[in-house]
Amino acid sequence: MNPSSTKQPQATDLTIHSDDIVAPGKSWDNVIQRGGVLRIIDLHGQQGVDFLCYNAKMTDERYHAPNTIKAAQSIHITNGSVLYSDYANPLMSVISDTTAGRHDTIAGCCSSWSNEMLYGVADVPGCRENFLGALEKYGMGWTDIVPNINFFCKVPVYADGSTADSVFVTGPSTAGDYIELEAQMDVLAVISNCPQINNPCNSGDPTEIQVKVYTPNANG
Ligand SMILES: [Zn+2]
Repeated sequence: MNPSSTKQPQATDLTIHSDDIVAPGKSWDNVIQRGGVLRIIDLHGQQGVDFLCYNAKMTDERYHAPNTIKAAQSIHITNGSVLYSDYANPLMSVISDTTAGRHDTIAGCCSSWSNEMLYGVADVPGCRENFLGALEKYGMGWTDIVPNINFFCKVPVYADGSTADSVFVTGPSTAGDYIELEAQMDVLAVISNCPQINNPCNSGDPTEIQVKVYTPNANG
């Protein structure tokens, strides 16, 4: 039985455009039309999901963490948060969030380079490499990757400005938790399902996620 089934709303009022399982270490990408909804389901809990989004019609416009943080007056993404672009336009808005609202905006993605810097492991690719692979098909590359959102990740910042020793601590999500984002313009959404095992962002055991794109039916 799908462990997420008890937490998800019924699908009778939705038109499903895509429904994919993404293994840890794999990427996902899609263009979502304005009004479409992206649902990211943490099937097994405590799984970090790295996320970027762009204006699909002009990808120079993309997610901008500082504008998002300033608008929310918070470094955490949760229900009601709006993801703003570098042009200060709304890209997507969070319409539901079953977690404790601790999605991270500041710690960015892992990469082969940061894995060597932080953990002393060589040639261990991460989310940056996943993003690069996904963006390639849109003619995009290295300079198109900006500081991303880490869904289902907890990055505490203490009163003196310090972080946890491992920066990430174990996330709050449990099996079947999900977040839903509604596209406020046509967006290119890109996900890396994080393979990291050197810090607790995936609680040491990266697992698959489910990614759905749907449109609410007019009479729904
Ligand atoms: Zn990662």
